[in-house]
Amino acid sequence: MQPQKAFRMEWKKSTGSELPLAKLQQQRLDRMIACARSHSPFYRQLYQHLPVSGVALHDLPPTTKTQLMEAFDAWATDPAVSRASVDAFIRDKRLVGQRYLGKYSVWTTSGTTGEPGIFLQDAAAQRIYNRLLILRGFRSWLTWGDLAAMLQRGFHCAMILAVGDHYAGAANWARVQRSLGPFADRLRIFPILEPLPALVARLSVFRPVIIISYPSVLALLAGEQSAGRLNIQPFVLCSLGEGLDEPARQKIESAFPKSHLVDIYAASEFLCIGFECSQHWLHANSDWVLLEPVGADHQPVPAGQPSANVLLTNLANRVQPILRYSLGDSVTFKPEPCPCGNPLPAFRVAGRTDETMIFPARTAGNVAVLPMAIASVVEQVPGVLRYQIIQTAPDQLKVRLEVESGVEREAVWDVTAAGLQAFFANQGAVTIGVALAGEAPQANPVSGKFRHVYKERWDAEESSVA
Ligand SMILES: [Zn+2]
Repeated sequence: MQPQKAFRMEWKKSTGSELPLAKLQQQRLDRMIACARSHSPFYRQLYQHLPVSGVALHDLPPTTKTQLMEAFDAWATDPAVSRASVDAFIRDKRLVGQRYLGKYSVWTTSGTTGEPGIFLQDAAAQRIYNRLLILRGFRSWLTWGDLAAMLQRGFHCAMILAVGDHYAGAANWARVQRSLGPFADRLRIFPILEPLPALVARLSVFRPVIIISYPSVLALLAGEQSAGRLNIQPFVLCSLGEGLDEPARQKIESAFPKSHLVDIYAASEFLCIGFECSQHWLHANSDWVLLEPVGADHQPVPAGQPSANVLLTNLANRVQPILRYSLGDSVTFKPEPCPCGNPLPAFRVAGRTDETMIFPARTAGNVAVLPMAIASVVEQVPGVLRYQIIQTAPDQLKVRLEVESGVEREAVWDVTAAGLQAFFANQGAVTIGVALAGEAPQANPVSGKFRHVYKERWDAEESSVA
């Protein structure tokens, strides 16, 4: 079947409407603006100077995470939502994947700007995210024959994710898992903090047909598969959370030649913004999420040129309307139609990649550690507001730490340092020196990008010291 025909057939099913894209977007945008103006005191005030009707997307003032977090209670369209009660909910890690106020999923993120965010999702939005993933994501990568073969093998799905907190991925999959009832064991969440040999052993037994994880994890698994320590045959490898760069792609594809490797552009602000096509472009699910590539001045950037920022508008989630929200990523839209036949806008995202870090092992050799795994150790310490972890030498880290107000920094640091030491011991690394930095977490002064975990160049420093 031709991709275009297949796409048309699935369009109505996955969008829930027969309207053409532009009309559908405008209709959903009008409804979201009306909802925000009537029920969110924050937007009522922000939009007070705009006309009552006929408002275009570019008429809306852009919003930022800082603005929305500061106006948390007034931002919500449900007066029962309050920052105090959400904070209490988040503190209880047993509630990951449960519903706040019996209605809303709660996803926390530090995002690309390093600033903490709390996003509530209503039930309708979550149904849309999952419908997009199943109907537009998996369905377009797999043939009926693939699906039959996957069913025959038990349809085991492995999610290898940061867990232990209310992260979008872990919280969403925990909820999906519960909804599967007697089939809940088909979906398993593996924590990324698990040491690689243990993860490999468990995956070998589980034999997943779908793996959803970060590209750095998939690349590590590819290394294990190529070395013969892992022997699994997944149909789909979904990469999300970080950018999938070319070296990682090649490594994964050569280790799993029969698998579809698919990049998903995902965020807590909208779970599946775009799915990768056969031509390696992401296609924005722009019937439900609008992306505007803009410069630093919020002026539009034409297709074909990388943007400084991208504004996101979520047309699915009403409890916390996200309209022209500064996401911070640099995107480049494809000026001409994509040869794959998918008429949804095609784009690429720059600079989402964190490199895997190497530490000396207690036995011979090295231990590869995922930046996300180290980050999640620090992120989960109560009282941590913002942080940055920098490898300053093969066996040394320094941590920039900003704590919540009213919390003692030294006490938070003690817990953080102990957590990091336990993590490295569990990974089989030598004892890693961890130091608390005097300075606050900061963005790269040149690129303006904030990275939670990175390696400082120490080769030059070593030679100058010697
Ligand atoms: Zn395409």
